[in-house]
Amino acid sequence: MKQEKSRNFIGKEARFGARNYQPVPVVVDHAKDCLVWDVEGRQYIDMMSAYSAVSHGHLHPRLVAAAHRQLERVAVTSRAYHGTTLGPFLEKLCTLAGFDRALPMNTGAEAVETAIKCARRWGHQVKGIADNQAQILVARQNFHGRTSTIIGFSSEPDYRAGFGPFAPGFTHFDFGDMESVRAAATANTCAVLIEPIQGEAGIVLPPAGFFRALRQWCGENNVLLIIDEVQAGLGRTGKLFAFEHEGIRPDALILGKALGGGLLPVSAFLADSDVMDVFNPGSHGSTFGGNALAAAVALEALNVIEDEHLVERSAELGAYLLARLREVQALAPALIRDVRGRGLWVGVDINPAQATARELVEALAAGGVLSKETHETVIRFAPPLTITRELIDQAVGVFEAVVHERQARLQKQAQPQACPA
Ligand SMILES: *Cc1c(COP(=O)(O)O)cnc(C)c1O
Repeated sequence: MKQEKSRNFIGKEARFGARNYQPVPVVVDHAKDCLVWDVEGRQYIDMMSAYSAVSHGHLHPRLVAAAHRQLERVAVTSRAYHGTTLGPFLEKLCTLAGFDRALPMNTGAEAVETAIKCARRWGHQVKGIADNQAQILVARQNFHGRTSTIIGFSSEPDYRAGFGPFAPGFTHFDFGDMESVRAAATANTCAVLIEPIQGEAGIVLPPAGFFRALRQWCGENNVLLIIDEVQAGLGRTGKLFAFEHEGIRPDALILGKALGGGLLPVSAFLADSDVMDVFNPGSHGSTFGGNALAAAVALEALNVIEDEHLVERSAELGAYLLARLREVQALAPALIRDVRGRGLWVGVDINPAQATARELVEALAAGGVLSKETHETVIRFAPPLTITRELIDQAVGVFEAVVHERQARLQKQAQPQACPA
């Protein structure tokens, strides 16, 4: 039975909140690095890290210190004025990512909207597509956020149903399939907008060589390649950016989540001048985008990724996590259909005939491990990049126990049918 305190907080959210979420029934009270405590004092290992927003671990001391320092000076001025933190943040971001310019926003969806506006204006002003005719190619099963324009080009019925009419100007292709990209393109195609790994779709990896072929095709056809690394970027996949796995460079890049160091929403759209300079004063903006506090934290977030070698950690410990989860899969091949991932970003694909991902996620939480299902069949493990081998071992141990328990129950259920009359 849920304890009194937890029930109270869950009840208030249920009573006064809109019903657009169905959280795992854990009431987080406080957290430190990879550990989280609920209001009853129970401890959990965070194997989810807020969908990669907490890649640095909870309340990283250097990030908290950077925030405190800036809170003694100024937090928000709007972009009506200059400040002392935005320039240094943008300089660091552009240097790391290898782009001329960056445009700061707050949420990932806003940075995606920025990319869409930029691509369309570039299509019109630079490529010469007639006004209002530019088309953007997007992958089926994409996830780029929740604004009305973005869900308009989702292929997920739950995200769309009843929210139309939707903005035109998007055409689908199949993720990983160049033939389908070619078939979807027209002379009015200005950009391809794509995730390097489809996270919300279930951590779907592209076939090897796809991004190299896509890069080449975009170049030949004067189409911008815009990669959405809101979730995959900043070390999550074992490279600073996931596009590095295929040795390519996009024309524009979208970042978010971990860019805010787990403290604040910070996102950015990056491109070289020939693309970014389609924005002129007045054409785009955000009251909070690039605010002094966010820029101070984001600059420190980038410094910490370098200083603490978080990208290398992700590669090493991610390989370890993947191997450990594959050991569990080998014990339960009927229950676990697939274990896939890159870096500290692993999806465990559950056979829906045996269990829902949600049931296992709740059993994991009861055992002290926070994870999250995506769709009905995939459990996502994406801990902070600061996680240790010891914590991975503990978390996988709990997962193994959950899997054992589930198998034992399935065998018991199956027994009557196993003895013919
Ligand atoms: C989370 C996410 C977004 C949206 O970010 P928000 O901050 O939730 O608006 C966009 N693209 C991808 C790939 C994401 O994972």
